[in-house]
Amino acid sequence: MVRRISILGATGSIGASTVSVLEEFRTDEFEVIAVTGNSNIEALAAIARGLCAKIAVTADPSRLGELRSALSGTRIEAAAGREALIEAASRPADWVMSAIVGAAGLAPTVAAARTGATIALANKECLVAAGDLFLREVARAGATLIPVDSEHNAIFQLIQGAGRAPIERLILTASGGPFRNATRARMARATPAEAMAHPNWSMGARISIDSATMFNKALEMIEARYLFGVASDQIEVVVHPQSIVHALVGLADGSLLAHLSPPDMRIAIAHALAWPQRAELGIERLDLTQLGRLEFEAPDPERFPALDLARAAMTSGGAMPCILNAAREVAVEAFLEGAIGFLDMAPLVAEAMNRMAETSAPASVEEVLATDARARDVARALVPRFAA
Ligand code: NAD
Ligand code: MG
Repeated sequence: MVRRISILGATGSIGASTVSVLEEFRTDEFEVIAVTGNSNIEALAAIARGLCAKIAVTADPSRLGELRSALSGTRIEAAAGREALIEAASRPADWVMSAIVGAAGLAPTVAAARTGATIALANKECLVAAGDLFLREVARAGATLIPVDSEHNAIFQLIQGAGRAPIERLILTASGGPFRNATRARMARATPAEAMAHPNWSMGARISIDSATMFNKALEMIEARYLFGVASDQIEVVVHPQSIVHALVGLADGSLLAHLSPPDMRIAIAHALAWPQRAELGIERLDLTQLGRLEFEAPDPERFPALDLARAAMTSGGAMPCILNAAREVAVEAFLEGAIGFLDMAPLVAEAMNRMAETSAPASVEEVLATDARARDVARALVPRFAA
């Protein structure tokens, strides 16, 4: 059976890994419907050509001419803009990779879910910003959600191993990022280049900054809360510098199930693609004796306040996870632009959350996006207060 596949965010880090995994499958096993990107038109066109996609879409409407000429001589359709992105995501497909970064991924992913496709979910912001609403859309359409975020993909696999046993706790591991052992003074001076130098994973710019602040783990706590239906106090975070154990599931008899693999996103992507079967993947195997030791330590709440902000957002519920996410995106951009310091990001997000404490829970995707936009405005207005 030929499977129809679409890749939303094909030009990013997860997009590239997805293309690389597809190369390990026989080309007659799948047909690529849509691939999407943003500003890197050359990469988008190359991916569309390489996969013989039906349509390539850039989110940037001003780049349509460029995309058309990059695809000339092929029968690949070119389109641009937000509506085109949603239209392409709505085209019938069996498996859709959701790998657009940020809240921009929400509407296209919901559109894909509404077709009833299997959604390989890398974009964690869908669940953080829209939580129950997103899950309701998935359930209503009969779509299947397979988490691709490595920790959540690991838990997804472990839960199947746990059978019907109730889950006592979920443990997400965090590498600790480049500043795991840095002093606050050192962190205060951190440049974007230093914050992006992740010790174990190679990822997009924004998620790399989020790993350094542990906002990435904060989002993942919220993601886990929705995906696996657990309470926030059942979710723990442990720093594990080797990034070999991705997550653990604790059961009532004291058992702790762990998932180990090399830190390579292709494993989670291949799992999501082959599920419920297993793919054969030609990647490096773990050599435990070579590794020698696996270390675990408690995260320092003083240097990584993002984790407590996630707990606060889950406790408040409603719109608060969406507000946390939007303010975080603004904070990361402001840091990347050099407008604020590394240690200003969490306080800026905390202040935006305080100022929007009365916001009611969004009832539709449009309301989520409206809350997201308001939270961004509030966060942007705070940037000068934190600017040095
Ligand atoms: P990236 O920055 O490398 O790529 C992002 C993709 O989104 C690109 O294709 C880009 O063109 C597209 N894009 C950017 N802005 C857009 C917009 N406004 N509208 C439409 N498309 C837009 O990011 P990434 O590292 O591949 O991460 C993608 C998602 O997967 C994120 O939500 C991230 O948190 C999640 N994730 C990534 C990793 C990883 O290892 N990279 C691991 C787990 C989860
Ligand atoms: Mg992760």
